[in-house]
Amino acid sequence: MSENERYFGEYGGMFVPETLMGSLTALEETYDKYKDEKDFLEQKEYYLREYAGRETPLYFAKRMTELLGGGKVYLKREDLNHTGSHKLNNVIGQMLIAQRMGKTRIIAETGAGQHGVATATIAALFDLPCTVYMGEQDTQRQALNVFRMELLGAKVVSVHTGTKTLKDATSEAIRDWAANFEDTYYVIGSVVGPSPYPRMVRDFQSVIGIETKRQIAEKEARMPDYLIACVGGGSNAMGLFYPFIGEENVKMIGVEAGGKGTDTPHHAAAIGKGSPGVLHGMKSYFLQDEFGQILPVHSISAGLDYPGIGPEHASLFESGRVRFESVTDDEAVEAFEFLSKTEGIMPALESAHAVAYACKMIPKTRKNDIIVINVSGRGDKDVYSVAKHMGVSIND
Ligand SMILES: *Cc1c(COP(=O)(O)O)cnc(C)c1O
Repeated sequence: MSENERYFGEYGGMFVPETLMGSLTALEETYDKYKDEKDFLEQKEYYLREYAGRETPLYFAKRMTELLGGGKVYLKREDLNHTGSHKLNNVIGQMLIAQRMGKTRIIAETGAGQHGVATATIAALFDLPCTVYMGEQDTQRQALNVFRMELLGAKVVSVHTGTKTLKDATSEAIRDWAANFEDTYYVIGSVVGPSPYPRMVRDFQSVIGIETKRQIAEKEARMPDYLIACVGGGSNAMGLFYPFIGEENVKMIGVEAGGKGTDTPHHAAAIGKGSPGVLHGMKSYFLQDEFGQILPVHSISAGLDYPGIGPEHASLFESGRVRFESVTDDEAVEAFEFLSKTEGIMPALESAHAVAYACKMIPKTRKNDIIVINVSGRGDKDVYSVAKHMGVSIND
């Protein structure tokens, strides 16, 4: 593997302690050996189809289209995957790599708990012990997902350092890996971290874009005009965008968490308000102060509450291929309600960010434009957060 294949333009790389270099190189070699191999691909496709329930529909949102009065809206239904989000696409692939590396213990970090649940699920399926690191603040916000992981047989470690959220859970998982790399496989949940993770996770999530491309060709006999996806670390967005990168007329928009507004300190818009830096093994965009200290972030959606973004997005932003926008907590909750009431689809609060931006943009599009929105997950996990935000109290 040449040095520059570990980079996307000037972003990416392998910024890790010496002790982890060997493990990353071994992972890189294993991944490159198997990624196009027939048995590996067949096994991966088997689990995606028979276990995760793929392919997911590309659904024509007729009522939403009529109400917004612009182009035709399609929803890519990643919310219909087993465990309720796109996360399983990646975990299945990585677990098959872990198996080939002979690893006997699985660890992961999680924010909202979606990646933790997906990892605990596949660890149960493959009968491997699993430890999930989660910030203490997130264990409270997403208590149901903590219990889910425990029911699946995983051990959840609550992380009390720093802001007690995803950034700190990730740092703790990296520490565990550095101490136990011989028998332990670290399943990273997004297109972040040191190489080869960003490229490997992108490849596993690309199933979203590959299916979308085939489905839109069947339904409309042409490419879409816009792809819209929310961006935390950026895996559901990369998965949708990547197979379309070479299609010059397809415009791509990543939607970051604007929290209480990007003119306040309470948001997670790493591209919108961040700058280049190094954290968690990668060079990318981060929200940081003038001394490079990572800033606390906020989003109503725990899955977008990360101060950075994957390095490939940083590169796609600088080249102008992908545009980044943000929407606020209020707008996301409004979109959550809107999609629930118009299409009977309750999106995850993360996905509601993509829906919210689409709702603002679509009235300005032409009638014959085609817009695909990635519904990265379902909203059941967020009902309590939404109720709280709306000031509604529900008994539990
Ligand atoms: C985790 C998660 C996200 C954010 O992660 P990305 O890597 O940016 O996709 C978005 N939507 C849902 C439903 C998630 O669970």
